[in-house]
Amino acid sequence: MKTTQESQKTIPVVDDVDVLVCGGGPAGVAAAVAASRAGAHTRLIEAHGSLGGIWTVGAMAYICGMHESKGGILREIVDELRNRDAVGLSGRAFDIEPAKLVLEEMCLQSGVMLRLHTRVAAAQRGESNRLATVITESKSGREAWKASVVIDCTGDGDVAALAGCGFDIGRPESDEAQPMSFIAVVGGIHLDEVRPYTHLRNLAPGEDAAIHKHRLRELLERAGTPPSYSLPTLFHVRDDLFILMSNHEYARSATNADDLTKATLQGRTEVHAQVQALRHLGGAWKDICIVATSGQVGVREGRRIHGRYAITAQDLASGARHPDAVSRCHFGVDIHATNPKESKGLGNEGVHAKPYDIPLRALIVRDVDGLMMAGRCISGDFVSHSSYRVTADAVPMGEAAGKVSAVAAKSNRLPHEVAWPEEEIAANKLDARDGL
Ligand SMILES: Cc1cc2nc3c(=O)[nH]c(=O)nc-3n(C[C@H](O)[C@H](O)[C@H](O)COP(=O)(O)OP(=O)(O)OC[C@H]3O[C@@H](n4cnc5c(N)ncnc54)[C@H](O)[C@@H]3O)c2cc1C
Repeated sequence: MKTTQESQKTIPVVDDVDVLVCGGGPAGVAAAVAASRAGAHTRLIEAHGSLGGIWTVGAMAYICGMHESKGGILREIVDELRNRDAVGLSGRAFDIEPAKLVLEEMCLQSGVMLRLHTRVAAAQRGESNRLATVITESKSGREAWKASVVIDCTGDGDVAALAGCGFDIGRPESDEAQPMSFIAVVGGIHLDEVRPYTHLRNLAPGEDAAIHKHRLRELLERAGTPPSYSLPTLFHVRDDLFILMSNHEYARSATNADDLTKATLQGRTEVHAQVQALRHLGGAWKDICIVATSGQVGVREGRRIHGRYAITAQDLASGARHPDAVSRCHFGVDIHATNPKESKGLGNEGVHAKPYDIPLRALIVRDVDGLMMAGRCISGDFVSHSSYRVTADAVPMGEAAGKVSAVAAKSNRLPHEVAWPEEEIAANKLDARDGL
């Protein structure tokens, strides 16, 4: 490959804050709101033009892993979406546009300073192995940002990787990662007519939980467009608005722009062909149309940054408990097929998860100081990641990282020097911690 030298530039340091959150997905929003509410001068930087990550730009507005014990910012988000009549019958899917506004308002009302349309491009260590500067690229050019504590909520662990931290991607034996999915929001169909194909969660007794997915696959096959994801799912959002997850993009790397481009082009082609084919079937499907598609192809798996603790499949199988738990994960192992020659569906690969704790140590980067992480880039193995990555855990992780970072910044400590929770909660009060 040909190479060229980039000339050295002097760039402005545009802000020096207590807590800098990079990435404004479910984890990043929660981290920024929690840090700011805890009194930290907090800045949130997001690459896209709206907050929400997979929920909005990814068009996959559905909360997995919800449990009655989960409160805090996650509950606030859900309650606010309900207040705006934006939550569907499943109680888990919601309307993307009100969600963008809710997340923005939560940040602004909490005092978070927002910078959209800005991507982290570099991260520099200072003396004593502490993360010193984050450098971004945007229409304003290259800019530098300083903070007492940085939280990497980019999903792919961009900040940590740019700072030279260790990480893993995919299966340990083959590097195969879970497939990406390109999502479509569809309209022009009516719940009463397509209910048998819809994911609603209120199954009849004894009904196969995936029956609606099998029906939809058979329908797509009959229409002449067998889906690359063999368990295609139609989520009801509200009225005649639905989310269609029917595409798998196999063997694509989250850290390769050519792969992301190919996945986007192929995914869009596939979902358009499917919707067109359903229209041709007529009947309940005669007016189906695409309302929107992912602005960013959905990446299930990027880097898993090495932390001070790595969550393992064994933790899930045993239902691990930790004194520094930040969330108790109730979601099972959910590995989307990595090799389409073997399967195009999903499974748990023999690991049966019991509710388990996500410890704060898995949110603290191992190789550089002053850097935390939350969401799908935290420290864990391939199998456990397929469970803890869901948004009902990404939000509490973000909330905890925000609180700890704020305490660390205000007290001139590093995140790993802050006890969690600060005021020693006795072991018998673990459940109180569930509801962060
Ligand atoms: C197709 C698909 C379907 C899924 N379905 C569900 C589901 O139904 N329910 C569920 O709960 N979970 C689901 N998940 C899992 C879940 O969505 C993710 O694991 C979750 O998004 C984790 O939140 P996050 O905040 O860590 O990451 P993300 O939602 O990916 O957010 C990361 C944010 O960081 C920004 N960013 C990235 N890089 C940079 C950078 N360099 N500089 C600045 N900003 C950056 C991104 O733009 C984005 O806003 C799904 C995932 C996929 C891909």
